[in-house]
Amino acid sequence: MALENLYAWARAVRSPSFLNRNDVRPLNLRIEDAAEGAGLGAGGFVRLTRAAAEPSFWSALEKAALPSDLARKDSVYFVITTRCNNGRAYPDENGGVRFRTCAHCLNGSGPNGASMTEREIEETVASMPFPLREIEISGGETLMPETLPLTLHTLRLCSERYGSNLMLSLQTNGDFLLSPRRCVETIRALQRCGLRRLVVASMDIYHGRGSSAQEQFEERLRHYARIRKNLKQIPSVVVKSGNFQELPDDPRVLSVHFFGADIQNRFDGFIIEDLAPNIRAVRAGLISERDNGVRYCSRHAGARGFLGSDGDDQIAINGGYAYPCCWFTEFPLGDVRGRSVSKTLLAYTLDPLALAMHLGEPRRAVEAIEAAYPSATVRLRALADKTTALNECSACRHFTVEYAEAMRSANPAAYERLWQDLTVPWNHRTDPEYNAVFASWA
Ligand code: SF4
Ligand code: SF4
Repeated sequence: MALENLYAWARAVRSPSFLNRNDVRPLNLRIEDAAEGAGLGAGGFVRLTRAAAEPSFWSALEKAALPSDLARKDSVYFVITTRCNNGRAYPDENGGVRFRTCAHCLNGSGPNGASMTEREIEETVASMPFPLREIEISGGETLMPETLPLTLHTLRLCSERYGSNLMLSLQTNGDFLLSPRRCVETIRALQRCGLRRLVVASMDIYHGRGSSAQEQFEERLRHYARIRKNLKQIPSVVVKSGNFQELPDDPRVLSVHFFGADIQNRFDGFIIEDLAPNIRAVRAGLISERDNGVRYCSRHAGARGFLGSDGDDQIAINGGYAYPCCWFTEFPLGDVRGRSVSKTLLAYTLDPLALAMHLGEPRRAVEAIEAAYPSATVRLRALADKTTALNECSACRHFTVEYAEAMRSANPAAYERLWQDLTVPWNHRTDPEYNAVFASWA
């Protein structure tokens, strides 16, 4: 089968009809329809899957120039460091772990985190999809004095490659914007490198200092007030909700968001997300892995549409490894330091789990494996049933581990490249702030 078939399939998967939220049919029927629509005929998905088991199929893709429609994406969430001034762990009286701040941290950031090198950033930015509407640079803390040069370098590279219309955005906890002079100097330096939007992502009690939830809440309100006052010295507009994807026409005017995670909605008026059951928050007892009714996967930062769409689809890159969502799946999609993100995504258009994530409903993967992977079906159905009481992101992490193993036995050639358990700078299992030897720095 030629690469043209893969391209036709990838287009079908990106289409509004495949991504239709109102289509409740099982995933295997949607796949069959999409294959017919792509001109692959009945059973076309399974045939394409078999053809793609041939190494020559992928070596041809490596050499090919991608059609421009398959190279575009809407948004990239780009974590350049997991080093942070917050997220400090210390041992509690029972030999367990507590955090002075940020027991909820999405990617286990803290003083022991790691940063990408300038070279890795260059290789990664060069590999990103093109064109892009938005790049959101995040950490860790991107404005720590030792990290700021890397942040400026990253902003510069992104603006050079994508131009001034890019929604170039930076997340920070705001701790290094509390002094009026430093705030102005830092923001001006960031704007000279192309920054258009600043996201102060610490408006929740988990970032707050204090010995009670009330003290932490009040401390965060003071934090907000100081940064807000400092930002009045530069042309800026604070966006509180709704139109946070819009930019002021004048590039000198900075768009600012105040954002946080708080299931109790104490911070009414800011942009507030639910607390995610990531591994540190679960281990710290802030949230359980049980189903809390929140569907993270179908949101902007979730996996919905990550294989491409006409809408606001996003992928995440953490330390040079691509992920379908900014909650970070158990295994990355692949190392994209020097390898095209768009080509990496094309391989996943043939994977049932990735297709289900692309719909924002990873649990539906089991509906699609029977035709292509009958030998894995029974095991994965039983596993899916076992995880129904879990939140979808927790279930996704547990499911992916066994899914990858089952698929590696069913189709070793394809799953040599898909859902590999790569050694990455950070993952849910190896959060360095959790596993560190406390005495060295607590
Ligand atoms: S939540 Fe933000 S401020 Fe807190 S440790 Fe993580 S990256 Fe740092
Ligand atoms: S369910 Fe999985 S793919 Fe979807 S947002 Fe959660 S971790 Fe990401």
